[in-house]
Amino acid sequence: MHQNQISEKPTTKSAIPQKFVYFFAAGESEGNAGMKNILGGKGANLAEMTSLGIPVPPGFTISTEICTHFYEEGGKLPDWARPNVTAAMAKVEAKIGKKFGDANDPLLVSVRSGARASMPGMMDTILNLGLNDQTVEGLAKSSNNPRFAWDSYRRFIQMYSDVVMNVNSSLLEVTMEDMKEDKHYKLDTDMTVDDLKLLVKKFKELILQMTGRSFPADPWEQLWGAITAVFHSWNTPRAITYRELHSIPVSWGTAVNIQSMVFGNMGEDSATGVAFTRNPSTGDKAFYGEFLINAQGEDVVAGIRTPQPITKIAAAASGMKSLEEALPESYNQLVDIYKKLETHYRDMQDIEFTIERSKLWMLQTRNGKRTAAAALKIACDMIDEKLITEEEAILRLDPSALDQLLHPTLDPKAQKTLLAKGLPASPGGVNGQIVFTSEEAVVWKEQGKKVILVRVETSPEDIAGMIAAQGIFTTRGGMTSHAAVVARGMGKCCVAGCGEVDVDYRTETMKVKGYVLKKGDVITLDGSTGEVYLGEVKTIEPKLDGTFERVMKIADKYRKLKVRTNADTPKDAQTAKTFGAEGIGLCRTEHMFFGADRIDSVREMIIADNKIDREKALAKLLPMQRDDFYNLFKIMDGLPVTIRLLDPPLHEFVPHTDEETKELAERINTDFERLRSKVKALHEFNPMLGHRGCRLAITYPEIYIMQVRAIAEAACMMLAEGKKLSAPEIMIPLIATDKELDILRAQAEQEMKKVQAEKNIKFEYHIGTMIELPRAALTADVIAEHADFFSFGTNDLTQTTLGLSRDDSGRFLGSYVSQGILPKDPFMSIDQVGVGALVKMGVDFGRRTKPNLKIGVCGEHGGDPESIEFFHKVGLDYVSCSPFRVPIARLAAARAALLTKKLHS
Ligand code: ADP
Ligand code: MG
Ligand code: MG
Repeated sequence: MHQNQISEKPTTKSAIPQKFVYFFAAGESEGNAGMKNILGGKGANLAEMTSLGIPVPPGFTISTEICTHFYEEGGKLPDWARPNVTAAMAKVEAKIGKKFGDANDPLLVSVRSGARASMPGMMDTILNLGLNDQTVEGLAKSSNNPRFAWDSYRRFIQMYSDVVMNVNSSLLEVTMEDMKEDKHYKLDTDMTVDDLKLLVKKFKELILQMTGRSFPADPWEQLWGAITAVFHSWNTPRAITYRELHSIPVSWGTAVNIQSMVFGNMGEDSATGVAFTRNPSTGDKAFYGEFLINAQGEDVVAGIRTPQPITKIAAAASGMKSLEEALPESYNQLVDIYKKLETHYRDMQDIEFTIERSKLWMLQTRNGKRTAAAALKIACDMIDEKLITEEEAILRLDPSALDQLLHPTLDPKAQKTLLAKGLPASPGGVNGQIVFTSEEAVVWKEQGKKVILVRVETSPEDIAGMIAAQGIFTTRGGMTSHAAVVARGMGKCCVAGCGEVDVDYRTETMKVKGYVLKKGDVITLDGSTGEVYLGEVKTIEPKLDGTFERVMKIADKYRKLKVRTNADTPKDAQTAKTFGAEGIGLCRTEHMFFGADRIDSVREMIIADNKIDREKALAKLLPMQRDDFYNLFKIMDGLPVTIRLLDPPLHEFVPHTDEETKELAERINTDFERLRSKVKALHEFNPMLGHRGCRLAITYPEIYIMQVRAIAEAACMMLAEGKKLSAPEIMIPLIATDKELDILRAQAEQEMKKVQAEKNIKFEYHIGTMIELPRAALTADVIAEHADFFSFGTNDLTQTTLGLSRDDSGRFLGSYVSQGILPKDPFMSIDQVGVGALVKMGVDFGRRTKPNLKIGVCGEHGGDPESIEFFHKVGLDYVSCSPFRVPIARLAAARAALLTKKLHS
């Protein structure tokens, strides 16, 4: 999918779809779960639930295609779309037996956005639409509950003015809080009918004052306004940020759902809630959710009151009353439905429900977001429950999310001062300096600081701050609050609803147990327990449990690509091996050159005037390199190890200031001026295209010869000790022509034979090359004549193919991606169309010469799931990535194999 969607600005208008309004009601649903592309996730699932016989308030969905038309018309619902909407509304009226706008017994609706992918909290929903000064009286009478009617009305005005009329919602909020304070009320539900009537009047006055427009009384005007606002919300900054973060193309658009209202705010036998069919944090098979009695819509997630747990077991610990106890009949209906939904969708569901006078209504279901740990647990459990197959389990898992599991946790042995305990909303252990606004989080992060975002609660406006922060802390809201849901999605640590802490935005302080923490003070969060500690608490590396191992084993069964690691130190090699690396695909020898004990010898070698001096310096390096390789061979214990000979330009190793040069001159006993001019002579205008890689060995063969000898001697040591050794793989970098490789291969073989003869030990070895210059890919057939293997160095290949310096492109690459010129940062995910074409050509040409040529990749792309899918397709043998990405690569490789299989079946 290299066609860019972001800058797509159609010059001709899209065709009018034949059908674009889909009705849903018991026995009459026109959509189903398979129609997410045009109905959005919410609309498709409302239709599907209805067809399953689950109680869903009737309504209809305006398709996502109309979103495209909306923007083509310059932000206006096309006139031709209106009659279909009015007709669908008439069908809803007939179904419910109430009329929209009827002064005696009005039909009220919600207007809900719903894109293909779920975008929690990104889009705006309006409830109770259709109320005005007349219909509210009708509702009061028909429900025999004036308090409820007026409560619904004031909520409607608040939501509508915020979403459609751009009135700053906090102004109305403050008006309401002032009234509650005057009357010494604690809860919204304490307000009387008269209070609410007065409030509605004040709201309308305020709105007129602020917008110069009166609040629309005509229900149809309200409806068109709401539909327009939903389509507009597709392009708000916060929706755009979310889309960019999750790679959701702008062209998808949102659908609009218009649905008859049910009311959770009708009294003590009414409620609203959200639930997960399994625990989204741990994956435990336990129904899990929160609700509020006498409340509506998003009250639960907005943190207006602290919600109560749904099950008795969960409530026991908190001392609150569960739904199971408060409304047992509705609870039992809910249990039946959640089980039905989970079995039907064969996945953990995230559901929204409302209870109106003891009658349960479902308002949403979708596959629930979950932490990586929960995803693994649920996958394993569902395999065992025979709900899904191993293949399905693998295809459902997101390889990148595994990163979360590899995150550190707090050291249980560390000394710590507990400040407070909130909800364990999203796992991980992090510390950082506290900031109170998202803007500040972003700025401090840019200054290189680690921050914890501290908020009373978060809202979609906080997305950028949440991305910038190490972790998120809130004092209000439950496990399904905005902060909790979004943090889990990002794999970020979050402690939510920590009510004992008093956060004061004005003074930028957080107070608890006599401590007063100011902006910039350090705290530590434990997202797995909900605990908050004073100062910095030590963290430890994660331990992986049985489900992780099991999923990895399953992945191994299905993948075709081998997974190796890039490692130059014993520590990295060891880590990678425990993560399942099947060898080292890239050992960068230059990293060894920087060691404190050897850098001066390296420098002596570089500044040597002649071959003899150079060899003298190299002789000092030889034993050290030999030990390096010996240690890696030992750890890898018979697994293949690919060693790349020296690659970077030599100037990288020499001092750059006069002062350092002076010190070095003294240490290695040479003249300062001479040294300085030597260093100066190494200067290059474009070192990445300069004297580096195999070019070093063409001019100074001694360097590679020493390295080959070190490898050979290390191999002899291993064999002499009877240790397991796979044929060492020697890799020559930056080859552009077959002649280079021909010459350097001959040199290396000669040295190999020499050492083998000296030690009287024979062993196999392979000499191969990096393919990292376009010319090498283009001439891979002749290069293959001298190579035992290829490894694509996709970092350099990307730089040289695009003519784009990795070190300098940061300034403009962002614009390239946001304008859709490039689909992604090509250094993060391989440019499949361009660089990928060279990879494919290199593979095809290479194997034309040697059908069994072993081919791998060792750039950053070796750990990127999307690139891995590509490498699988072009037929590589292995990918090599950094140690912590090995599990990700194993899973991604399995998915790639299964996806290809699916495609061909
Ligand atoms: P989001 O995508 O942000 O979850 P929703 O469209 O699901 O937004 O709506 C927000 C809240 O309003 C949800 O809690 C939902 O249950 C409630 N809601 C939406 N439509 C109705 C309705 N017709 N009757 C009662 N509650 C509704
Ligand atoms: Mg919402
Ligand atoms: Mg919802």
